[in-house]
Amino acid sequence: MNTIPNLSLANYTSFRCGGAAETAVFFDTINSNSKTITALSKPLHVLGFGSNSLVSDAGLPGTTLILRTGSIERHENVLVADAGVWWDDLVTYAIDRSLWGLEFTSAIPGSVGAAVVGNIAAYGMAVSDTLAWVDVFDTTSGSTERLAADALDLEYRMSRRLQHHRELIVMRAAFALSDRPTKDLEYESAATIAREKSYDLSTLQGRRQTIIDARARAGSLWDYRDDCAARTAGSFFRNPLVDAETAERIMDFDETGKSHELLRTMNQLHGGSSRRVSAALVLLAAGFSRGQTWGDVRLHPSNLLKIENIGHASAQEIYTVAQEIILTVKKRLDIDIEPEVRFLGSFA
Ligand SMILES: Cc1cc2nc3c(=O)[nH]c(=O)nc-3n(C[C@H](O)[C@H](O)[C@H](O)COP(=O)(O)OP(=O)(O)OC[C@H]3O[C@@H](n4cnc5c(N)ncnc54)[C@H](O)[C@@H]3O)c2cc1C
Repeated sequence: MNTIPNLSLANYTSFRCGGAAETAVFFDTINSNSKTITALSKPLHVLGFGSNSLVSDAGLPGTTLILRTGSIERHENVLVADAGVWWDDLVTYAIDRSLWGLEFTSAIPGSVGAAVVGNIAAYGMAVSDTLAWVDVFDTTSGSTERLAADALDLEYRMSRRLQHHRELIVMRAAFALSDRPTKDLEYESAATIAREKSYDLSTLQGRRQTIIDARARAGSLWDYRDDCAARTAGSFFRNPLVDAETAERIMDFDETGKSHELLRTMNQLHGGSSRRVSAALVLLAAGFSRGQTWGDVRLHPSNLLKIENIGHASAQEIYTVAQEIILTVKKRLDIDIEPEVRFLGSFA
């Protein structure tokens, strides 16, 4: 445990902006001996690699726990990783041991703990597909508990239970993997890359390389060790759930020539429902455009769901653009879109 007062958090988030933690505490691992957490000054905030968080310019009062280290253990086909493990280290650990079930999530940035909280997913594979259990630490009582994956109410891009119980910190998570393939790659864009590059999708390494190339093309690679990485938190908004008629109307905005039938299948894959339409298409339908800028805040030139800090944008400026988008979408389309990015601290 390492405590640093008044630590600027700009270097600890992918947006590279925001204020300071009144007190930052770095934990190697949280275990049942970590009772000291309950005595830390409140409020408590938790940060992994900051790739899905916007920290207020006013900073975070109280204590910010930063979890960025940890280890991985293997128990037959179950891998147990501490919350601070970099997600992709877990994926490569599994691949190196010929274990299937995480490979399509290769190179998603962030920590194992946040991956569970946000039920991260990519290319048809989600944390909820393999998560067996998590150990959580209750910051109010100091007690620890093992929760089966079923108890976390894992849904599209969230654990409802952990979202509603912010006092629970994920300490470690266990993933039950398989010694044979569990899924086929159903994303045509990625499958095309595999064909072009002659990657062998029947192997774990071939699948990983395909996903990394697909993510590179989509501008979806980010690494906390790279100072020049794009300043974004990935998709800023969740894909919204709409009625069937609105879903069809939104699909008309697809510019890639996909049929509505294919789009419905993709929506199902992305969010578990053919009516959970792409938030990117919703933004286009509401009149926003790729590369649109507000000062140093920009919608990514190809993936407009990514809000970027292209210079010295403040957290408030990013927040204000996000609110403008949410309000405009509501006003023009009567659709509610929600941020996937977490706001830490106070915003105007
Ligand atoms: C370029 C880019 C591409 C991305 N692509 C994808 C993608 O393909 N799929 C996808 O699902 N996501 C994607 N994301 C989003 C991001 O990778 C995930 O949300 C990731 O899980 C964030 O991890 P983190 O450690 O950086 O989280 P942080 O930003 O540090 O934290 C996120 C939230 O989790 C909470 N939290 C963190 N650790 C814990 C813990 N141990 N216990 C309890 N709460 C905790 C924090 O308080 C915060 O509310 C992308 C992001 C970027 C920048």
